[in-house]
Amino acid sequence: MIDISGLTKHFGGGPVLNNIDLQIADGERVVVIGPSGTGKSTLLRCLNFLDVPQAGRITIGDVTVDAAKAGKADVLALRRRTAMVFQNYALFANKTAKQNIMEALVTVQKRSKAEAGERALAVLAETGLADKADSYPAALSGGQQQRVGIGRAMALEAELMLFDEPTSALDPEWVGEVLDLMRAVAERKQTMLIVTHEMQFAREIADRVIFMDGGKIVENGAPSEIFGSPKDARLQKFLKRVE
Ligand code: ATP
Ligand code: MG
Repeated sequence: MIDISGLTKHFGGGPVLNNIDLQIADGERVVVIGPSGTGKSTLLRCLNFLDVPQAGRITIGDVTVDAAKAGKADVLALRRRTAMVFQNYALFANKTAKQNIMEALVTVQKRSKAEAGERALAVLAETGLADKADSYPAALSGGQQQRVGIGRAMALEAELMLFDEPTSALDPEWVGEVLDLMRAVAERKQTMLIVTHEMQFAREIADRVIFMDGGKIVENGAPSEIFGSPKDARLQKFLKRVE
């Protein structure tokens, strides 16, 4: 269970996240949509303290953190319960696919190198990249790099997987294989919070869709409601533009 309440973030100016409340059930897949600059990435980044929120309470599984007084141990606890997939893959260029997946298993989860290596190879097999274990990112296509990025997140077996526009940087030819891998992740009942501009994919994969605008959740409902009968004028306008 994920429970976010009163989450508030500003970067010195006005609020970028304005008192966000959001609950996500175990195994639920929630897709976040909304215009550019509206706080979608910031929401994801506040859940693992890549951005530090000023206020709010975040519960992920058995950990509850009060943003206003979060210490190092709290941040580490949240990071251990989340795994993030980035738009630009964020792979280590000087590490192979296998080493990229091993990194957090060793440094964050404190597994032995041997165990991390085994786990990395198992995940690479699941992502269809067994033969790329020793390849460096530069030798992989964009789609393959992002599959490594997703594999790295899968390997952590985190309570919550965060995806921030995982296909936006890809050439169109690589989008399909990355979405296929995300479908496979979803089938394992993994709890997922996904920011995407792929509306067709959102309709298909989401249990629930959240429309954000101006740092607030403006509408929150089943894909059939959000796409089929949007209520808020801002959502109607947004959908006309992107669909
Ligand atoms: P996009 O669809 O373009 O990715 P987004 O909804 O993810 O947009 P955010 O990246 O969360 O939007 O940004 C929300 C707002 O916060 C923007 O106005 C942005 O300029 C501002 N912002 C984000 N990160 C920072 C930062 N590190 N310092 C200052 N302002 C920031
Ligand atoms: Mg963003």
